[in-house]
Amino acid sequence: MNYEPVIGLEVHVELNTKSKMFCRCSADYFGKEPNTHTCPVCLGLPGALPYINKAAIEACMKIGLALNCSINEVSRFERKNYFYPDLAKGYQISQYRWPLCINGYLILDNGQKIRINRVHQEEDTGKLTHRDSETLIDFNRSGVPLVEIVTEPDFRDVQSVRDYAKKLQQLFRYLGVSNADMERGDMRLEANVSVRLVGQEELPNYRVELKNINSFRFMAVAIEYEIKRQIGAIKAGEKLSQETRGWNADKKCTYLQRSKEEANDYRYFPEPDLPEMKVDRLQATVDSIKAKMPELPWEKKERFQKEFKLSISQTAILTESKELADFFEDTVKHGQGHDVNGVQVANHIINKKINIKEVLPTQVIEELRGKKVGIIEDERELEKLAKQAMEENQKSVEDYKSGKVVALQAIIGGVMKLSSGKADTSKLKSILERLLTYA
Ligand code: ADP
Ligand code: MG
Ligand code: ZN
Repeated sequence: MNYEPVIGLEVHVELNTKSKMFCRCSADYFGKEPNTHTCPVCLGLPGALPYINKAAIEACMKIGLALNCSINEVSRFERKNYFYPDLAKGYQISQYRWPLCINGYLILDNGQKIRINRVHQEEDTGKLTHRDSETLIDFNRSGVPLVEIVTEPDFRDVQSVRDYAKKLQQLFRYLGVSNADMERGDMRLEANVSVRLVGQEELPNYRVELKNINSFRFMAVAIEYEIKRQIGAIKAGEKLSQETRGWNADKKCTYLQRSKEEANDYRYFPEPDLPEMKVDRLQATVDSIKAKMPELPWEKKERFQKEFKLSISQTAILTESKELADFFEDTVKHGQGHDVNGVQVANHIINKKINIKEVLPTQVIEELRGKKVGIIEDERELEKLAKQAMEENQKSVEDYKSGKVVALQAIIGGVMKLSSGKADTSKLKSILERLLTYA
Protein backbone atom coordinates (compact mmCIF):
# COMPACT_ATOMS: atom_id res chain seq x y z
CA MET A 1 0.00 0.00 0.00
CA ASN A 2 1.26 3.45 -0.87
CA TYR A 3 1.17 6.42 1.45
CA GLU A 4 1.37 10.10 0.63
CA PRO A 5 2.19 13.02 2.90
CA VAL A 6 -0.25 15.82 3.67
CA ILE A 7 1.55 19.00 4.65
CA GLY A 8 0.46 22.47 5.71
CA LEU A 9 2.83 25.31 6.49
CA GLU A 10 2.74 28.10 9.05
CA VAL A 11 5.21 30.90 8.41
CA HIS A 12 5.96 33.67 10.89
CA VAL A 13 7.67 36.80 9.67
CA GLU A 14 8.90 39.64 11.83
CA LEU A 15 8.12 43.03 10.32
CA ASN A 16 10.80 45.69 10.06
CA THR A 17 8.59 48.53 11.32
CA LYS A 18 10.21 51.34 13.34
CA SER A 19 8.17 50.67 16.46
CA LYS A 20 6.60 47.67 18.12
CA MET A 21 3.09 46.36 17.51
CA PHE A 22 1.27 47.88 20.46
CA CYS A 23 3.65 50.50 21.91
CA ARG A 24 6.17 53.05 20.68
CA CYS A 25 9.33 51.17 21.70
CA SER A 26 11.85 50.67 18.90
CA ALA A 27 11.35 47.34 17.15
CA ASP A 28 14.96 47.36 15.99
CA TYR A 29 16.23 45.08 18.74
CA PHE A 30 18.80 42.87 17.05
CA GLY A 31 22.15 43.07 18.86
CA LYS A 32 20.92 45.82 21.20
CA GLU A 33 21.60 45.80 24.93
CA PRO A 34 18.98 43.53 26.57
CA ASN A 35 15.87 45.12 28.09
CA THR A 36 16.58 48.62 26.79
CA HIS A 37 13.66 48.66 24.30
CA THR A 38 10.88 48.24 26.81
CA CYS A 39 7.95 50.08 28.36
CA PRO A 40 4.95 49.18 30.55
CA VAL A 41 3.02 47.90 27.50
CA CYS A 42 5.59 45.44 26.17
CA LEU A 43 6.63 44.44 29.68
CA GLY A 44 3.01 43.54 30.37
CA LEU A 45 2.71 45.72 33.44
CA PRO A 46 -0.80 45.85 34.91
CA GLY A 47 -2.98 48.66 33.56
CA ALA A 48 -0.78 49.49 30.56
CA LEU A 49 -2.87 50.06 27.43
CA PRO A 50 -1.85 48.87 23.95
CA TYR A 51 -2.49 50.80 20.72
CA ILE A 52 -2.30 49.49 17.17
CA ASN A 53 0.73 50.19 14.96
CA LYS A 54 -0.72 51.35 11.64
CA ALA A 55 2.46 50.67 9.67
CA ALA A 56 2.37 47.04 10.80
CA ILE A 57 -1.26 46.63 9.74
CA GLU A 58 -0.38 48.08 6.35
CA ALA A 59 2.54 45.67 5.95
CA CYS A 60 0.29 42.76 6.92
CA MET A 61 -2.26 43.86 4.33
CA LYS A 62 0.50 44.18 1.71
CA ILE A 63 1.49 40.57 2.31
CA GLY A 64 -2.15 39.44 2.27
CA LEU A 65 -3.00 41.29 -0.93
CA ALA A 66 0.15 40.02 -2.66
CA LEU A 67 -1.03 36.52 -1.75
CA ASN A 68 -4.44 37.12 -3.31
CA CYS A 69 -6.26 37.32 0.02
CA SER A 70 -9.37 39.35 0.77
CA ILE A 71 -9.28 41.81 3.60
CA ASN A 72 -11.75 40.62 6.20
CA GLU A 73 -14.76 42.89 6.59
CA VAL A 74 -14.22 42.97 10.32
CA SER A 75 -11.02 41.88 11.95
CA ARG A 76 -9.98 42.01 15.54
CA PHE A 77 -7.34 41.02 18.01
CA GLU A 78 -7.75 38.27 20.56
CA ARG A 79 -5.81 37.13 23.58
CA LYS A 80 -4.12 33.76 23.27
CA ASN A 81 -3.61 32.77 26.88
CA TYR A 82 -0.71 30.63 28.02
CA PHE A 83 2.07 30.76 30.54
CA TYR A 84 5.70 31.00 29.55
CA PRO A 85 8.49 33.12 31.07
CA ASP A 86 9.08 34.99 27.79
CA LEU A 87 5.44 36.08 27.73
CA ALA A 88 5.14 38.76 30.38
CA LYS A 89 1.40 39.41 30.02
CA GLY A 90 0.41 35.75 30.26
CA TYR A 91 -1.19 36.08 26.82
CA GLN A 92 -0.09 36.91 23.32
CA ILE A 93 -2.17 39.39 21.36
CA SER A 94 -2.95 37.56 18.15
CA GLN A 95 -5.82 37.02 15.74
CA TYR A 96 -7.89 33.88 15.69
CA ARG A 97 -11.51 34.11 14.63
CA TRP A 98 -11.22 37.42 12.79
CA PRO A 99 -7.88 37.52 10.94
CA LEU A 100 -7.01 40.60 8.87
CA CYS A 101 -6.57 38.73 5.56
CA ILE A 102 -8.27 35.51 4.45
CA ASN A 103 -8.67 33.06 1.56
CA GLY A 104 -5.64 33.67 -0.63
CA TYR A 105 -3.42 31.47 -2.75
CA LEU A 106 0.04 31.23 -4.22
CA ILE A 107 0.96 29.43 -7.44
CA LEU A 108 4.14 27.33 -7.27
CA ASP A 109 6.71 26.82 -10.02
CA ASN A 110 5.13 23.44 -10.82
CA GLY A 111 1.79 25.18 -11.37
CA GLN A 112 0.20 23.88 -8.16
CA LYS A 113 -2.08 26.31 -6.37
CA ILE A 114 -1.51 26.43 -2.61
CA ARG A 115 -4.50 27.85 -0.77
CA ILE A 116 -3.76 30.32 1.98
CA ASN A 117 -6.13 30.16 4.89
CA ARG A 118 -5.13 33.40 6.60
CA VAL A 119 -2.56 36.13 6.97
CA HIS A 120 -2.90 37.56 10.43
CA GLN A 121 -1.20 40.05 12.70
CA GLU A 122 0.28 39.24 16.07
CA GLU A 123 3.21 40.12 18.33
CA ASP A 124 6.48 38.42 19.16
CA THR A 125 7.50 37.25 22.63
CA GLY A 126 10.64 38.01 24.63
CA LYS A 127 13.75 35.94 24.16
CA LEU A 128 15.17 33.41 26.59
CA THR A 129 18.86 32.59 26.68
CA HIS A 130 19.90 29.50 28.59
CA ARG A 131 23.41 29.75 30.03
CA ASP A 132 24.85 27.03 32.25
CA SER A 133 22.33 26.68 35.04
CA GLU A 134 20.61 30.03 34.55
CA THR A 135 18.15 31.46 32.05
CA LEU A 136 18.21 35.10 31.01
CA ILE A 137 15.22 37.03 29.65
CA ASP A 138 15.42 39.87 27.15
CA PHE A 139 12.16 41.72 26.51
CA ASN A 140 13.49 43.83 23.62
CA ARG A 141 11.75 41.46 21.21
CA SER A 142 8.53 41.40 23.23
CA GLY A 143 5.79 43.05 21.18
CA VAL A 144 7.68 43.26 17.87
CA PRO A 145 5.13 42.87 15.03
CA LEU A 146 4.81 39.37 13.65
CA VAL A 147 2.70 38.27 10.71
CA GLU A 148 1.60 34.66 10.44
CA ILE A 149 0.75 33.08 7.10
CA VAL A 150 -1.10 29.77 7.27
CA THR A 151 -1.71 27.50 4.29
CA GLU A 152 -4.36 24.85 3.85
CA PRO A 153 -2.86 21.32 3.99
CA ASP A 154 -2.28 21.35 0.23
CA PHE A 155 1.32 20.18 -0.10
CA ARG A 156 2.01 16.60 -1.18
CA ASP A 157 5.80 16.75 -1.47
CA VAL A 158 8.74 18.42 0.21
CA GLN A 159 10.06 20.21 -2.87
CA SER A 160 6.80 22.16 -3.13
CA VAL A 161 7.01 23.21 0.50
CA ARG A 162 10.52 24.46 -0.11
CA ASP A 163 9.48 26.35 -3.24
CA TYR A 164 6.59 27.96 -1.34
CA ALA A 165 8.76 29.02 1.60
CA LYS A 166 11.41 30.47 -0.71
CA LYS A 167 8.75 32.38 -2.63
CA LEU A 168 7.43 33.89 0.59
CA GLN A 169 10.92 34.97 1.62
CA GLN A 170 11.42 36.60 -1.77
CA LEU A 171 8.03 38.31 -1.48
CA PHE A 172 8.77 39.77 1.97
CA ARG A 173 11.98 41.25 0.59
CA TYR A 174 10.36 42.61 -2.58
CA LEU A 175 7.63 44.23 -0.49
CA GLY A 176 10.29 45.59 1.86
CA VAL A 177 8.34 44.46 4.93
CA SER A 178 11.07 42.28 6.42
CA ASN A 179 14.65 41.18 5.88
CA ALA A 180 13.27 37.65 6.24
CA ASP A 181 16.63 36.38 7.43
CA MET A 182 16.19 32.82 8.70
CA GLU A 183 19.37 32.83 10.76
CA ARG A 184 18.33 35.91 12.67
CA GLY A 185 14.90 34.46 13.24
CA ASP A 186 13.14 37.11 11.11
CA MET A 187 11.36 34.26 9.36
CA ARG A 188 10.32 31.03 11.10
CA LEU A 189 8.77 27.92 9.66
CA GLU A 190 6.44 25.36 11.18
CA ALA A 191 5.39 22.38 9.12
CA ASN A 192 2.32 20.27 9.88
CA VAL A 193 2.73 16.76 8.59
CA SER A 194 0.47 13.74 8.37
CA VAL A 195 0.30 10.76 6.00
CA ARG A 196 -2.58 8.89 4.38
CA LEU A 197 -3.16 6.18 1.82
CA VAL A 198 -2.91 7.34 -1.76
CA GLY A 199 -6.45 7.74 -3.04
CA GLN A 200 -7.90 8.56 0.38
CA GLU A 201 -9.98 11.73 0.12
CA GLU A 202 -10.35 12.90 3.68
CA LEU A 203 -7.58 14.47 5.72
CA PRO A 204 -5.87 12.34 8.35
CA ASN A 205 -7.42 12.92 11.77
CA TYR A 206 -4.11 13.92 13.34
CA ARG A 207 -1.21 16.17 12.46
CA VAL A 208 2.30 16.49 13.75
CA GLU A 209 3.60 20.02 14.04
CA LEU A 210 7.35 20.43 13.50
CA LYS A 211 9.04 23.31 15.30
CA ASN A 212 12.59 24.69 15.77
CA ILE A 213 13.28 24.73 12.06
CA ASN A 214 15.73 27.49 11.23
CA SER A 215 16.73 26.82 7.64
CA PHE A 216 15.12 25.69 4.41
CA ARG A 217 17.41 22.68 4.36
CA PHE A 218 16.50 21.59 7.88
CA MET A 219 12.86 21.98 7.01
CA ALA A 220 13.21 19.62 4.08
CA VAL A 221 15.11 16.95 6.01
CA ALA A 222 12.83 17.24 9.06
CA ILE A 223 9.72 16.73 6.91
CA GLU A 224 11.33 13.80 5.04
CA TYR A 225 12.25 12.21 8.35
CA GLU A 226 8.78 12.72 9.74
CA ILE A 227 7.06 11.23 6.69
CA LYS A 228 9.18 8.08 6.99
CA ARG A 229 8.63 7.88 10.75
CA GLN A 230 4.87 8.17 10.40
CA ILE A 231 4.59 5.64 7.59
CA GLY A 232 6.71 3.24 9.63
CA ALA A 233 4.52 3.76 12.68
CA ILE A 234 1.30 3.17 10.74
CA LYS A 235 2.70 0.02 9.16
CA ALA A 236 3.68 -1.19 12.63
CA GLY A 237 0.05 -0.78 13.66
CA GLU A 238 0.52 2.29 15.84
CA LYS A 239 -2.12 4.96 16.06
CA LEU A 240 -0.69 8.42 15.44
CA SER A 241 -1.96 11.42 17.34
CA GLN A 242 -1.75 15.18 17.39
CA GLU A 243 1.62 16.28 18.75
CA THR A 244 4.39 18.83 18.49
CA ARG A 245 7.88 17.64 17.64
CA GLY A 246 11.19 19.47 17.45
CA TRP A 247 14.03 18.94 15.00
CA ASN A 248 17.32 17.80 16.45
CA ALA A 249 19.90 18.95 13.90
CA ASP A 250 22.73 16.95 15.50
CA LYS A 251 20.94 13.63 15.70
CA LYS A 252 19.02 14.35 12.48
CA CYS A 253 15.71 13.25 13.90
CA THR A 254 12.49 14.73 15.28
CA TYR A 255 11.64 14.31 18.96
CA LEU A 256 8.42 14.67 20.93
CA GLN A 257 8.01 18.08 22.58
CA ARG A 258 4.44 17.85 23.75
CA SER A 259 1.18 16.28 22.79
CA LYS A 260 -0.63 19.08 21.09
CA GLU A 261 -2.92 21.42 22.93
CA GLU A 262 -6.24 22.22 21.26
CA ALA A 263 -7.16 25.78 20.39
CA ASN A 264 -9.62 25.88 23.27
CA ASP A 265 -6.75 25.31 25.70
CA TYR A 266 -5.71 28.87 24.90
CA ARG A 267 -9.06 30.33 25.94
CA TYR A 268 -8.98 32.82 23.08
CA PHE A 269 -11.16 35.86 23.70
CA PRO A 270 -11.40 39.30 22.08
CA GLU A 271 -8.80 41.79 23.30
CA PRO A 272 -10.93 44.33 25.19
CA ASP A 273 -8.31 47.10 25.02
CA LEU A 274 -8.18 47.29 21.23
CA PRO A 275 -10.89 48.38 18.77
CA GLU A 276 -12.06 46.11 15.98
CA MET A 277 -10.86 47.01 12.49
CA LYS A 278 -13.52 47.46 9.83
CA VAL A 279 -12.84 47.13 6.16
CA ASP A 280 -14.97 50.13 5.17
CA ARG A 281 -12.73 52.32 7.29
CA LEU A 282 -9.70 50.50 5.93
CA GLN A 283 -10.84 50.71 2.31
CA ALA A 284 -8.86 53.84 1.45
CA THR A 285 -5.74 52.19 2.85
CA VAL A 286 -6.44 48.99 0.93
CA ASP A 287 -6.89 50.94 -2.31
CA SER A 288 -3.70 52.90 -1.87
CA ILE A 289 -1.73 49.73 -1.03
CA LYS A 290 -3.09 48.08 -4.15
CA ALA A 291 -2.18 51.11 -6.24
CA LYS A 292 1.35 51.21 -4.86
CA MET A 293 1.98 47.47 -4.92
CA PRO A 294 5.35 46.85 -6.57
CA GLU A 295 5.69 44.32 -9.36
CA LEU A 296 5.78 40.97 -7.54
CA PRO A 297 8.65 38.54 -8.09
CA TRP A 298 6.57 36.03 -10.05
CA GLU A 299 5.08 38.81 -12.21
CA LYS A 300 8.54 40.15 -12.92
CA LYS A 301 9.74 36.67 -13.80
CA GLU A 302 6.99 36.22 -16.35
CA ARG A 303 7.52 39.66 -17.86
CA PHE A 304 11.29 39.12 -18.19
CA GLN A 305 10.66 35.89 -20.05
CA LYS A 306 8.31 37.55 -22.51
CA GLU A 307 9.96 40.92 -22.88
CA PHE A 308 13.60 39.83 -23.09
CA LYS A 309 13.14 36.27 -24.39
CA LEU A 310 15.09 34.83 -21.48
CA SER A 311 15.04 31.21 -20.37
CA ILE A 312 13.18 30.16 -17.23
CA SER A 313 16.41 29.53 -15.36
CA GLN A 314 17.82 32.91 -16.39
CA THR A 315 14.74 34.78 -15.20
CA ALA A 316 14.76 32.82 -11.96
CA ILE A 317 18.30 34.00 -11.25
CA LEU A 318 17.76 37.59 -12.37
CA THR A 319 14.57 38.12 -10.36
CA GLU A 320 15.87 36.46 -7.21
CA SER A 321 16.32 39.90 -5.67
CA LYS A 322 14.70 43.15 -6.72
CA GLU A 323 18.12 44.81 -6.72
CA LEU A 324 19.51 42.36 -9.29
CA ALA A 325 16.36 42.60 -11.41
CA ASP A 326 16.60 46.41 -11.43
CA PHE A 327 20.28 46.23 -12.31
CA PHE A 328 19.51 43.94 -15.23
CA GLU A 329 16.79 46.23 -16.57
CA ASP A 330 18.97 49.32 -16.16
CA THR A 331 21.73 47.63 -18.08
CA VAL A 332 19.40 46.60 -20.89
CA LYS A 333 18.22 50.20 -21.13
CA HIS A 334 21.79 51.46 -21.47
CA GLY A 335 22.47 48.81 -24.07
CA GLN A 336 19.59 49.77 -26.33
CA GLY A 337 21.41 52.44 -28.30
CA HIS A 338 24.45 50.20 -28.64
CA ASP A 339 22.95 47.17 -30.27
CA VAL A 340 23.20 45.08 -27.09
CA ASN A 341 20.13 43.02 -26.25
CA GLY A 342 18.61 41.48 -23.12
CA VAL A 343 19.89 37.96 -23.72
CA GLN A 344 23.47 39.23 -24.04
CA VAL A 345 23.12 41.27 -20.86
CA ALA A 346 21.58 38.32 -19.00
CA ASN A 347 24.34 35.93 -20.14
CA HIS A 348 27.03 38.41 -19.18
CA ILE A 349 25.61 39.16 -15.71
CA ILE A 350 25.04 35.48 -14.94
CA ASN A 351 28.14 33.91 -16.48
CA LYS A 352 30.55 36.57 -15.27
CA LYS A 353 28.82 36.60 -11.86
CA ILE A 354 28.76 40.41 -11.97
CA ASN A 355 28.80 41.95 -8.50
CA ILE A 356 26.09 44.60 -8.77
CA LYS A 357 27.47 46.47 -5.77
CA GLU A 358 30.78 47.08 -7.53
CA VAL A 359 29.93 47.36 -11.21
CA LEU A 360 27.73 49.96 -12.94
CA PRO A 361 25.24 49.06 -15.67
CA THR A 362 27.15 51.26 -18.12
CA GLN A 363 30.34 49.31 -17.40
CA VAL A 364 28.60 46.07 -18.29
CA ILE A 365 27.61 47.59 -21.62
CA GLU A 366 31.16 48.79 -22.24
CA GLU A 367 32.50 45.33 -21.57
CA LEU A 368 29.92 43.79 -23.84
CA ARG A 369 30.59 46.26 -26.66
CA GLY A 370 34.31 45.76 -26.36
CA LYS A 371 33.78 42.12 -27.10
CA LYS A 372 31.25 42.71 -29.83
CA VAL A 373 33.19 45.35 -31.76
CA GLY A 374 36.21 43.07 -31.68
CA ILE A 375 39.19 44.92 -30.31
CA ILE A 376 42.31 44.51 -32.45
CA GLU A 377 44.97 42.92 -30.27
CA ASP A 378 47.08 41.25 -32.91
CA GLU A 379 50.60 42.79 -32.74
CA ARG A 380 51.40 42.52 -36.41
CA GLU A 381 48.14 44.09 -37.42
CA LEU A 382 48.67 46.86 -34.90
CA GLU A 383 52.20 47.43 -36.20
CA LYS A 384 50.92 47.77 -39.75
CA LEU A 385 48.35 50.32 -38.66
CA ALA A 386 50.98 52.15 -36.58
CA LYS A 387 53.36 52.43 -39.54
CA GLN A 388 50.62 53.74 -41.78
CA ALA A 389 49.62 56.35 -39.18
CA MET A 390 53.26 57.42 -38.84
CA GLU A 391 53.48 57.89 -42.61
CA GLU A 392 50.40 60.08 -42.52
CA ASN A 393 51.55 62.09 -39.50
CA GLN A 394 55.19 62.88 -40.41
CA LYS A 395 55.08 66.11 -38.45
CA SER A 396 54.03 64.39 -35.23
CA VAL A 397 56.75 61.77 -35.70
CA GLU A 398 59.37 64.52 -35.91
CA ASP A 399 57.89 66.38 -32.94
CA TYR A 400 58.05 63.20 -30.88
CA LYS A 401 61.65 62.55 -31.88
CA SER A 402 62.61 66.08 -30.91
CA GLY A 403 61.26 65.43 -27.41
CA LYS A 404 57.59 66.41 -27.60
CA VAL A 405 56.18 63.27 -26.01
CA VAL A 406 52.57 64.51 -26.32
CA ALA A 407 52.83 64.18 -30.08
CA LEU A 408 52.31 60.48 -29.54
CA GLN A 409 48.61 61.19 -28.93
CA ALA A 410 48.16 62.48 -32.46
CA ILE A 411 49.64 59.28 -33.92
CA ILE A 412 47.48 57.13 -31.67
CA GLY A 413 44.51 59.19 -32.87
CA GLY A 414 45.57 58.41 -36.43
CA VAL A 415 45.55 54.65 -35.73
CA MET A 416 42.13 54.94 -34.11
CA LYS A 417 40.81 56.65 -37.21
CA LEU A 418 42.24 53.91 -39.44
CA SER A 419 40.84 51.12 -37.23
CA SER A 420 37.50 52.83 -36.43
CA GLY A 421 38.45 52.85 -32.76
CA LYS A 422 39.14 49.16 -32.46
CA ALA A 423 42.84 49.21 -31.58
CA ASP A 424 43.91 47.99 -28.15
CA THR A 425 45.32 51.25 -26.78
CA SER A 426 47.89 49.94 -24.36
CA LYS A 427 49.40 47.48 -26.85
CA LEU A 428 49.37 50.13 -29.56
CA LYS A 429 51.19 52.57 -27.30
CA SER A 430 54.12 50.26 -26.63
CA ILE A 431 54.37 49.33 -30.31
CA LEU A 432 54.46 53.01 -31.30
CA GLU A 433 57.09 53.81 -28.67
CA ARG A 434 59.29 51.03 -30.03
CA LEU A 435 58.82 52.06 -33.67
CA LEU A 436 59.48 55.74 -32.91
CA THR A 437 62.62 55.01 -30.92
CA TYR A 438 64.17 52.99 -33.75
CA ALA A 439 62.71 54.89 -36.67
P1 ADP B 1 -2.36 25.89 15.16
O1 ADP B 1 -2.29 27.30 15.65
O2 ADP B 1 -2.99 24.95 16.10
O3 ADP B 1 -1.04 25.40 14.67
P2 ADP B 1 -3.31 26.70 12.60
O4 ADP B 1 -4.71 26.76 12.11
O5 ADP B 1 -2.54 27.96 12.78
O6 ADP B 1 -3.35 25.86 13.93
O7 ADP B 1 -2.47 25.79 11.62
C1 ADP B 1 -2.86 24.54 11.28
C2 ADP B 1 -1.94 24.05 10.17
O8 ADP B 1 -2.04 22.64 10.05
C3 ADP B 1 -2.32 24.60 8.82
O9 ADP B 1 -1.17 24.93 8.11
C4 ADP B 1 -3.04 23.44 8.15
O10 ADP B 1 -2.88 23.44 6.76
C5 ADP B 1 -2.33 22.24 8.73
N1 ADP B 1 -3.13 21.02 8.77
C6 ADP B 1 -4.41 20.86 9.13
N2 ADP B 1 -4.78 19.57 9.05
C7 ADP B 1 -3.68 18.88 8.65
C8 ADP B 1 -3.39 17.51 8.41
N3 ADP B 1 -4.31 16.55 8.56
N4 ADP B 1 -2.15 17.18 7.99
C9 ADP B 1 -1.20 18.12 7.85
N5 ADP B 1 -1.40 19.42 8.07
C10 ADP B 1 -2.63 19.81 8.46
MG1 MG C 1 0.63 25.89 14.53
ZN1 ZN D 1 7.15 48.97 24.68
